[in-house]
Amino acid sequence: KSASREEIDKIRKSLPAYTVKAKLVQTIQENQVTIVIGETGSGKTTQLPQYLFDGGFCSGGKLIACTQPRRVAAMSVAKRVASEMGVKLGEEVGYSIRFEDETSDKTLIKFMTDGILLREALLDPTLDRYGCIIIDEAHERSLNTEVMLGLLKRLLARRRDLKVVVTSATMNAAKFANFFGNAPQFDIPGRTFPVQLIYSKYPVEDYVEAAVMQAVRIHASTETNSGDILIFMTGQEDVEVTAEVIRERLTDIYAKSKGIARFEEIDDVKIFTVYSALPGDIQNEIFHSLSGNKRKIVVATNIAETSLTIDGVRHVIDCGYSKLKVYNPRIGLDSLVVSPISLANANQRSGRAGRTAPGTAYRLYTEETAFEDMYAQAIPEIQRTNLSNTVLLLKSLGVDEVTKFPFVDPPPIQTLLSSLNELFFIGALDKGGNLTTLGSEMAKFPLQPSLCKILLSSAQNGCSQEMVTIVSMLSVPQIFYRPKERQKESDAARSRFFVPESDHLTLLNVYSQWKSSRYSHRWCSKHFINFKSLQRAREIRRQLVKIMQKNHITLISTGTDWHTIRKCICSGYAHQAAKVAGLGKYTSLRTGMELQLHPTSALYGLGDLPPYVVYHELLMTTKEYICCVTSVDPFWLMEYGTLLYDIKKVNIADIVRHP
Ligand code: ADP
Ligand code: MG
Repeated sequence: KSASREEIDKIRKSLPAYTVKAKLVQTIQENQVTIVIGETGSGKTTQLPQYLFDGGFCSGGKLIACTQPRRVAAMSVAKRVASEMGVKLGEEVGYSIRFEDETSDKTLIKFMTDGILLREALLDPTLDRYGCIIIDEAHERSLNTEVMLGLLKRLLARRRDLKVVVTSATMNAAKFANFFGNAPQFDIPGRTFPVQLIYSKYPVEDYVEAAVMQAVRIHASTETNSGDILIFMTGQEDVEVTAEVIRERLTDIYAKSKGIARFEEIDDVKIFTVYSALPGDIQNEIFHSLSGNKRKIVVATNIAETSLTIDGVRHVIDCGYSKLKVYNPRIGLDSLVVSPISLANANQRSGRAGRTAPGTAYRLYTEETAFEDMYAQAIPEIQRTNLSNTVLLLKSLGVDEVTKFPFVDPPPIQTLLSSLNELFFIGALDKGGNLTTLGSEMAKFPLQPSLCKILLSSAQNGCSQEMVTIVSMLSVPQIFYRPKERQKESDAARSRFFVPESDHLTLLNVYSQWKSSRYSHRWCSKHFINFKSLQRAREIRRQLVKIMQKNHITLISTGTDWHTIRKCICSGYAHQAAKVAGLGKYTSLRTGMELQLHPTSALYGLGDLPPYVVYHELLMTTKEYICCVTSVDPFWLMEYGTLLYDIKKVNIADIVRHP
């Protein structure tokens, strides 16, 4: 049921941005760079591109770009704007995110991730197709956004006709204005209602449980039409578990009071989950109040902080944490860490309760925590993550001295240096820091350097068909599905796919068997495998194959020569290698730190652990876990890692013992 033209017009005219439309367009017209500041939900993302379109910004055939740090946001706002304009998605209004392009020759308003625009700059450094570039959600300070801002700053003089709009929530706006030499700041007048903050009296031990209890309590004690509930959780897993437990609890309660046996029979509440892992999942219903006195409970990650506006929320429950990618110099790698949010984020979250009426925010942490332990502002991604991708990209864009690139806030010099080092080690840069042939080939793939390298060397190794599958599988989250009440069963199902020496090969095995089932949905359910993830892997595979063909990389298969495949895997991860150190334990060859084998690994529980492994990922909880691990031959490590490992570190006895 889509809204009628009149309804849409009415909604559009009710947004705060509408009241300043003419002035806003004029300011952008008169300045090369404008900073636009406005509360979440004021219409920056959905309205501004349309205002510019109406204002004739596309009349010369140039496009309006609007970048988003998050894929799901790019997709969902494109859908919304297409429907507001009454056009088919992909025609006048389209979106482009990694591995998915929904645009055409007709497209004039293009929503895209900041990463896609960066990659477009590789092919067209002056971004000539665009007449106006809106860098949206700049306050999020995503790594790609900030690199894009630096590029734009350099581009402005060469593209006098280009308009740049940077939109931001109130935090950080002045910083962006300064960065662009005192660009004008345009305020969209806000309209928010007061939100009462309720803190936990005591520190919360289990925030999932606490959130569930709070949600159930609100639902039981207030009228269903007194506002929807929005719960902020850290990541996909927490989101799913929280939603599941709320379903269980409500079913129990309704069973007692109304004799209901299943959650689906409950008629006055609906539960939604939102996270960015699998786009396509966001239901339109989520954005509006449900009809007929129904209450909506939305469990989301920080994607609902500012990127997506969910109307009708009057109760916010904030667990106080989010998942952050953090670079750990000790291990030389990024890892996802559940970290306390900043006070600015906490206020954004709470603010979601007061968009349409006064609301309440339940903070699942104490007031002392908020004011004593939380940072005032989140640390920008560029300050806390690995920059190898970024450095490779900058080098490919012809930025020779990356340390002199105009960053909004320059990253620590140490991080830049270690990225240069890693790229040198992997063969992407030469000793002088110049891009090698391999390096420039690598930049053609929208993947992390190690995966680019694996794909590129797979053709010579004769296993590119297999490697492209493995790389695609590594690019999607959560292949295996582990329902709470059937964990034993699902773990057993998972272990039937295990290839004992390699999690990478296990992934290949899953994909191959799925393919044999003719990509069947039923096969997935039967084996506790996430069908959507596999579909996505298949789509990514298709895209990667296209890039490989374009670059004349031969697609060949070794069949089941797993030895060759493991060797090829080793070529990309030689800097992430470890040596066995006891039961379930390894030590990093590079740093000497202790690493635990993750219990989900196919190698876990093997009586005799392979002496040397490489790993894809490091998970930090109370310990450091290596995930997605493959056993390798120490000779290969010497071959690929001569710069890093001298022969003395490798035990000859191990080599003899190893097959
Ligand atoms: P901002 O970017 O300033 O935070 P938006 O332009 O995203 O604001 O949102 C403006 C309005 O459009 C909000 O009321 C929001 O609920 C609505 N909206 C945004 N996306 C959708 C969608 N996909 N479906 C329905 N309404 C939406
Ligand atoms: Mg927005």
